[in-house]
Amino acid sequence: MNDPGALFARAAALATEYRRGIGDALQRPEHGYAAALSDWQAPVPEHGMPAEAVLEELVTRATPGLHAMTGPRFFGWVIGGSHPAGVAADWLVSAWGQNVGNHQASPAGAAAETVAGAWLVDILGLPSESSVGFVTGATMANLVGLAAARSEVLRRVGWDVEADGLFGAPPIRVVVGEDIHVSALSALQFLGLGHSRLTRVATDAEGRMLPQGLADALAGQGPAIVLLQAGQINSGGFDPFEQLIPIAHAAGAWVHVDGAFGLWAKAAPGRAGLAAGVELADSWATDGHKWLQTPYDCGFAIVRDAEAHRRAMAFGASYLPAVAAGERDPTHYVPELSRRARGLTTWAMLRHLGRSGVADMVERHCRIARQIADSVAGEPGITVCCDVVLNQVLLRFGDDNDLTLKTIARLQQDGVAFAGGSQWRGRWLMRISVSGIQTTEADAAMTAVALCDAWRAVRGSNTP
Ligand SMILES: *Cc1c(COP(=O)(O)O)cnc(C)c1O
Repeated sequence: MNDPGALFARAAALATEYRRGIGDALQRPEHGYAAALSDWQAPVPEHGMPAEAVLEELVTRATPGLHAMTGPRFFGWVIGGSHPAGVAADWLVSAWGQNVGNHQASPAGAAAETVAGAWLVDILGLPSESSVGFVTGATMANLVGLAAARSEVLRRVGWDVEADGLFGAPPIRVVVGEDIHVSALSALQFLGLGHSRLTRVATDAEGRMLPQGLADALAGQGPAIVLLQAGQINSGGFDPFEQLIPIAHAAGAWVHVDGAFGLWAKAAPGRAGLAAGVELADSWATDGHKWLQTPYDCGFAIVRDAEAHRRAMAFGASYLPAVAAGERDPTHYVPELSRRARGLTTWAMLRHLGRSGVADMVERHCRIARQIADSVAGEPGITVCCDVVLNQVLLRFGDDNDLTLKTIARLQQDGVAFAGGSQWRGRWLMRISVSGIQTTEADAAMTAVALCDAWRAVRGSNTP
């Protein structure tokens, strides 16, 4: 193999050019899926071509269909900004080619997970005894936390689910709020707990579970799992943990919290109150690739009872020997065996930002969300439809779905800023998620203008 220097340098140059241009670029892809597919369509290559030429072709084919997720006025879904510090670290992770299945395969990769995991738990204010599994995202982190929950609530009634499965097991009651994220439902589906075999508890206007509803749902005996949320995907609302978790624990239930982005409120002193009491739970799911700004993909499954965590995830091991001092195999805490060294990228982001940098970023994003909401709230016909306590803003344009959907389409077409739509309380709304490190107050001001322009254009063309 040739020396990779020229190839690597070219990749770095192409990446630099892309990232330098993203602030002025359209904040949406030029091509949608159908056009992108024709950009890529080609017969099976019968013969190879030099890697340098492959790189150029890759860029040519990909560019029109790239979404400006690292752009400063990109507010779609809840997507982090792939911070350059994380991207550069991730390049080294790939170049080093580490498979972090166990601590002998990659001592550095395994050790970085141990240390970055402990830092995470500390920064998020969670119990220090917790174990951390480095996974692909919050969906997998929900799966891992709920697998530990399933293992432990059944073990307490004398059932070994790892060995004997669910057939014939005592039933587990699973209690969720009405405004649960679909990803948590898919985790329940994968675990044989069913995405419909649930008790759904009513929520308030911001999607927060009502305590009396939880108490009612848990009346009676038997194993139970309660799934709560830190950061509702639309409203950014937090379940009232200080009230709910003691109710769940009094009924013997395991409490798992989906905090894909919202758990990071705990890292910012000014916002931590929103998630007060979340540390009382038994397991937590959160993402690195959302608010921590690691490149995709990266998520964390955090479990207070490390033994339940390991029992649920380690291969063929209902009765694992104790972990020898000074040893930790990353794969014992996640579903995969061969795996990427996400601990190194996580370490790099935490080392770069530090505790104060994470806190400042979270605080700044919340302020920017407020700024956008306040800037458009005076415009006739625009309504802010959530409390804007965190980084999420919901907007309604006019008084029917059609005008809101048209305004979303118009904003996206104009390309100054990008936001998508979401259905909330039976209506279509525009959802703005401030979650990329690159967004500034000036970008928020430009976005507010773009929002009002899009709305005026839609309203103008709808006035007879
Ligand atoms: C994004 C999100 C998820 C899913 O996370 P992935 O990282 O996409 O797997 C789950 N729950 C909530 C609340 C989310 O915002």
